[in-house]
Amino acid sequence: MMDLHCHLDLYPNPSALVREIRSRGTVTFSVTTTPSAYRQTKALACGVDHIYTGIGLHPQIAGQRQGEMGSFEDYVRVADFVGEIGLDGGPEFKSTWPAQNAIFEKALSLADSCGGKVLSIHSRRAAAPVLAVLRRLLGRNSAILHWFSGTPMQLDEAIELGCWFSVGPAMLAGKKGRDLVARMPVDRILLETDGPFARIDDEPYYPWQAEQICTPVLASIFDMNAASVARVYKDNLHSLLVELRKQKPRAP
Ligand code: MN
Repeated sequence: MMDLHCHLDLYPNPSALVREIRSRGTVTFSVTTTPSAYRQTKALACGVDHIYTGIGLHPQIAGQRQGEMGSFEDYVRVADFVGEIGLDGGPEFKSTWPAQNAIFEKALSLADSCGGKVLSIHSRRAAAPVLAVLRRLLGRNSAILHWFSGTPMQLDEAIELGCWFSVGPAMLAGKKGRDLVARMPVDRILLETDGPFARIDDEPYYPWQAEQICTPVLASIFDMNAASVARVYKDNLHSLLVELRKQKPRAP
């Protein structure tokens, strides 16, 4: 089981959630939205080797958080996982566009200079500019486009760049999301919830639900049985982690 994009620190009871994730063995990419939340969120997962904590600076708050750039850069150097980062093209964030770009570009180039990291990338209303930045700066990083919502042509470009895609219950609930997923190579698909932001009936999705909810939908999209689909995600996750190990610079 896996959830490669969720915000553990923002659930009502993060410690209880971590205990549940541990007992269920859910492989979790726990993203953060601010550098100041990183240490505490990482500490939450202490001792659980299948929870990977990302250092993030969410593009929607890029404007207020530029003062945290120094600690962001320090943590990016040491973390294997970086996210949530990216660009948000919504009109309400227009004034912070230069700051968003500066942070996103810095994260990519710094992560590449360290040998490459696994990145979880936000691209709401910004698929084209995100892809343009990735084309220049992806380097040795492994990019996971989280909840991708661009056009089919932009998706093709992301595939050509070698991106991974984390898809979740909320994305699969709509036809647009399902049509995009149908166009993705099955061997680039990973699962996420984006909890606790993504919700159903006023309850957040929980990390172990990504696979439970997505498997029947993906099985039907790809015309596979549930067991084969589950096998594919597991293999994909394995490939992603192998990529990460290859990227890490060897000890001298
Ligand atoms: Mn998110």
